[in-house]
Amino acid sequence: MNDTLSGRYYPPGSSAAEPATLRASGGLAIITLEESGKAKPFEIINMSDRLANIARKITLKGGGVFETADNEGVDRAFNQGGAFAGRLTKVESSLKYVAVLALLTVAALVGMYRYGLPALASGAANFTPSSVVSLMDAGTLSTVDKVLFNASNLDKARKREISGLFDELVMQAGQNEPALKLLFRDGGRLGANAIALPGGTIIITDQLIAAAKSDDEIAGVLGHEIGHVELRHSLKQIYRVLGIGFMVTIIGGDSGQLVEDVIAQAAVLESLSYTRKFETESDYRSAELMVGIGRDPFAFVELLKRLTNDDGKKKENGYNPSRHL
Ligand SMILES: [Zn+2]
Repeated sequence: MNDTLSGRYYPPGSSAAEPATLRASGGLAIITLEESGKAKPFEIINMSDRLANIARKITLKGGGVFETADNEGVDRAFNQGGAFAGRLTKVESSLKYVAVLALLTVAALVGMYRYGLPALASGAANFTPSSVVSLMDAGTLSTVDKVLFNASNLDKARKREISGLFDELVMQAGQNEPALKLLFRDGGRLGANAIALPGGTIIITDQLIAAAKSDDEIAGVLGHEIGHVELRHSLKQIYRVLGIGFMVTIIGGDSGQLVEDVIAQAAVLESLSYTRKFETESDYRSAELMVGIGRDPFAFVELLKRLTNDDGKKKENGYNPSRHL
């Protein structure tokens, strides 16, 4: 996978081509301009069919086109069937149920009840102050630490290395609010996993780090989680699920009953899982950040492939929205 194809890149609306190379997996293409060495990720919109030896055209989101005479290479690169987007789905999946429950209850009860009702009423994830989401994280973290995670056994030197990677990605993202923070935990029964809380707290498990064969694989996962925070996916999901009735219940103060109701409503929790759109957005954001810091944006696909093969279940190429946080 990830053959490098040589060809020419036509920027959007331009008929002047530049020599370039393309690497692709699933719907993601990384175009590198030969002269400047500049690389950029693109979503692939369309690819022309193979017709004798006519050059193939790969149309990219935004209107750019990559053209190559390497028909064999194109067929090799695109017949792998490896989906780039949505891969993290399965890894993050087992975390979904418990963590979303914790997120929902604790975030709602502590964060919103005490500080966030006006923000909640405004109903817009983008307008929720960072101070509110940070409080939500504090509450959520103490809960997941009780019910989910154990202290990390990772040695200090390795933590420092991975924190360094994380800092590089954060710098590249230019994300200030909410401030991003990386924590290490033993995943317990969740095993290899990573999670992003709405306030910018990202947790990576020892098991995920152990499963990775390279730092690029770890960085790709971190980039994906950073994407979830930047794009406010958790918050958007919470707002989507919390209806007016939920707010009324919180205001009414019958929290104990509320929590039980929520636990009983697995369907509600299921609908809290990220949508495919969010996953895809985060995957592309990860690719952007990885290219930006000069690391391999495809690496984490390999990690996720290995992890999903290990669960003994039939490998799915498609996205399963019920199995993700
Ligand atoms: Zn995700």
